[in-house]
Amino acid sequence: MTKKKLPAFRIALYVLLLAVVALTVPTRVQEWVNDDRRWEPPLSFDTIKRTEIPNEPHQRYLLLYHDKADIPEALRTRDNLSMALRYSKLPHDVMSFDEYNKLNTPLQRYAQGAVIIIGERQSDLPHVDLLQRYVTEQGGLLINALRSPSSPLNSFFGIEGNTDFLEDSLGGLNWTESIYPGLSELVVSADKFSSSSLSLSSGLSQESKIWATALEPEGYPLLWVAERGSGHVMYWNTTALQESPMRGAFIQTMLKAQGGAKATVGAQVWFIDDFPSPAYSLVSPGNTTGMTDYNFRLKRWDPDMQDLSKKYGIRYSAGVIFMYNDTVTGPFDYVKSGQETLFALEVQLMNNGGELGLHGYNHLSLRKSYTPSEQELYGYKPWPSEHAMLEALLTARKLWQQEIKAPLPTMYIPPSNVLSREGKFQLYKAFPELKTISALYATSGKQGEFSQEFLPDPDIPQIMGTPRVTYGYSLEDDDKFNLYSVIGNLGIISHFNHPDDVFNDDRNMGKSWANLRSDFEALIGEINSRFQWLQPLTATELSDRLRMYYQTEVQFDRSQEGRLTAYLSPLQGPMMLEVRVEDPFAWQVNTGGEIVARNEEFGLIWVEAREPKLVLEVAK
Ligand SMILES: [Zn+2]
Repeated sequence: MTKKKLPAFRIALYVLLLAVVALTVPTRVQEWVNDDRRWEPPLSFDTIKRTEIPNEPHQRYLLLYHDKADIPEALRTRDNLSMALRYSKLPHDVMSFDEYNKLNTPLQRYAQGAVIIIGERQSDLPHVDLLQRYVTEQGGLLINALRSPSSPLNSFFGIEGNTDFLEDSLGGLNWTESIYPGLSELVVSADKFSSSSLSLSSGLSQESKIWATALEPEGYPLLWVAERGSGHVMYWNTTALQESPMRGAFIQTMLKAQGGAKATVGAQVWFIDDFPSPAYSLVSPGNTTGMTDYNFRLKRWDPDMQDLSKKYGIRYSAGVIFMYNDTVTGPFDYVKSGQETLFALEVQLMNNGGELGLHGYNHLSLRKSYTPSEQELYGYKPWPSEHAMLEALLTARKLWQQEIKAPLPTMYIPPSNVLSREGKFQLYKAFPELKTISALYATSGKQGEFSQEFLPDPDIPQIMGTPRVTYGYSLEDDDKFNLYSVIGNLGIISHFNHPDDVFNDDRNMGKSWANLRSDFEALIGEINSRFQWLQPLTATELSDRLRMYYQTEVQFDRSQEGRLTAYLSPLQGPMMLEVRVEDPFAWQVNTGGEIVARNEEFGLIWVEAREPKLVLEVAK
């Protein structure tokens, strides 16, 4: 991968933007260390760098869960939080109450991290005295991640008197403490966040500090922390940590309470589906631009999106569709539609720093059957056989070579984010170059959508998952919560848009293109001013970076006051670290990398590690 050169006008623009920032932002609140906002490190080094990771105390976590006849939320919470720790590259152990009872593992090894208790039936919790001493004497952080009326530690966690379940569920989430940029400025609705919680009829102990409350009933404590001796306790009065959108919130509250570092991918990918869109020389019902759909696309949408790309340095990853027909049995024709000018133009635009992936021969998801409700939702014809799918895909391959004249696609976006297992195998047969599939991130899959993690595909591990987290031009707080939570967990933005949503009454929220465009620009601007360290990548580049990310073993040691050592081995390319400290401006890199951004309000430093051993310390 070569480093992209900045044209002079862009440098001038950034200098101007920085001057504006310098004038409007109070000093020391946030600092961009590089004057070039589009700092673009290479994806990989020429040679892999290694170091020996010492077998010494380090930032480590224990998930302690109750397995026997507990509620299903207990195991789901365990798996969800384990995934959150894995994504942040935080070493952790998972142990049942029983195993902990037998092994009696010394808790000192988690003193730099946390012990996280999960289970509704916590009366079985063994070694309660040791868990308390882990906090008070060893300075550990003890977290209760699933509310339990029967825990012998409830008063230690700050709950006064006896407690039971609240009759109604709690709804909504409102932060009462600054947790993480963007994330803790949002109010999450009761539709998005509802949970079974404990009644706190006798209240919380005086020293408890509430970090989050519910909206319904308003002000009801959802999350609080308290000091105990030399350590801390944290209580989540909820069952909601089983939900994937809570991953980032969990990681960031934990790091805020205990300090420490995490790894982060540091990438932003902006997708455009339906490329080109079905834009004909007609005026669709919602089109009020006074132009045909085709001309709107050619003269407004494409140039506007390109302007945003130039202004913010973002790059698009688009999915190509050849035909908007519903053919599922051969022959699979290609009929020129008069859109060729647009097609050629868009291909050219994408080749300039973006990526062209495949969205399909046509817009029919690769499925052989649908449930009645899925059929109603998508209205797609099912494919009669794997063979028919393969034939259509091979036609797309031929058309790619004929019409696009660019290297074959390495990324695939399933139409409507729907894909079957057998469809996936046909896809890989037709396009063995494929490196990544981009559908939807960690959804329930209830509407037949293809739900993915940012992990290798379980069936075809050569394909990395680069799912999309958010969608649209105008995002509500609930959507932004997903966006910021994934930044707080993985350091990834993965967002997609449809060109034709502009004319769709359900999806344009009653807004004109000018309004949608300005909302979208505000979103990109908001993200880029908060997270300057998120490097614009294509989906395929993100898949490469993820492979490197997972191959590196990471360990942090902060047993020495005023010093943090990170071990990252094998290190195949620069890796971004996010560090929680009290005063970001007091810290400097001693060796192994560079601080690329600081945020004083949240006590955060972002460091690019370039050597497998990195040392940060308080400046003398
Ligand atoms: Zn589509």
